[in-house]
Amino acid sequence: MSAILLSGKEMEKELLTSQIERCQALKEKGIHPLLAVIVVGEDPASAIYVRNKGRMCDAIGILQRTIELPESISQEELEAHIEALNTDPAVTGILVQLPLPDHLDENRALACVLAEKDVDGFHVVNTGKLMRGEKSALPCTPRGILHMLKKANVPLEGKHAVVIGRSNIVGKPVAMMLLQENCTVTICHSRTQNLKEMTRQADILVAAVGKPHFVTADMVKEGAAVIDVGVNRVDGKVVGDVDFDHVAPIAGWISPVPGGVGRMTVSMLMENTLEAACRA
Ligand code: NAP
Repeated sequence: MSAILLSGKEMEKELLTSQIERCQALKEKGIHPLLAVIVVGEDPASAIYVRNKGRMCDAIGILQRTIELPESISQEELEAHIEALNTDPAVTGILVQLPLPDHLDENRALACVLAEKDVDGFHVVNTGKLMRGEKSALPCTPRGILHMLKKANVPLEGKHAVVIGRSNIVGKPVAMMLLQENCTVTICHSRTQNLKEMTRQADILVAAVGKPHFVTADMVKEGAAVIDVGVNRVDGKVVGDVDFDHVAPIAGWISPVPGGVGRMTVSMLMENTLEAACRA
């Protein structure tokens, strides 16, 4: 393998020390960061994510409150729970665990969270600010991707970044953040024609597709930074969107799955939580 490995595990460790110190400093000022997590229903993947977040909070010293609500809850009842957290001065950050059951309106629920307490960066106000290049709570996965690239000193200014995927949680916000860093950005999606022609031009290639080993070696320019966001289960194993074994010899930098972007996502949630506590 010739590419430099962008290890989320290592970067998480580095951030942890500073997060513990910052949390302690906040407490000494009388600010006790408290992350409230709303979980609706019993989605097993969500349960794992919530547990991982809880572990990180414990390691840093962030207090947590998990509000478990029944699958059958109505939109109005869910919003009443969010409203109660908005007005609770002890709660400094709020996260609504997605996905919500089908009968609930995710956008409405997310818009209900006070923008100042939004640690996911999904509130429309924060999304709008990101679009305008104003300071805002940034979505955790895109923020983690930018952290990885910067930490590894991957050149960004004037470079061509190609993002595969246009979701509101990954594709679109990471494209905006790369634009903010003065990359020239191309966003690709399922209707993109000649995808390979696009990706082969990428100095930075972000794959957020949700299809195992979708990005193959022939789609990658030599020396590119390849960021794999995908989390796919194949025969009980977690694999990314990038064919790691064949892409790594060509790429300049590459993030693994697992141990890459996923680690950064939780780390950035902790950053957002500490920042929200500062605002409080
Ligand atoms: P999503 O909402 O399903 O979006 C997938 C995107 O891929 C869509 O924009 C879709 O295009 C595009 N796409 C699908 N097939 C394509 C094709 N053949 N060619 C080009 N583009 C294609 O997924 P997401 O929420 O962004 O997540 C993407 C992946 O990242 C998933 O595996 C997810 O589990 C993972 N993820 C990981 C983390 C982490 O922390 N590591 C966080 C979030 C997500 P259309 O818009 O045209 O349909």
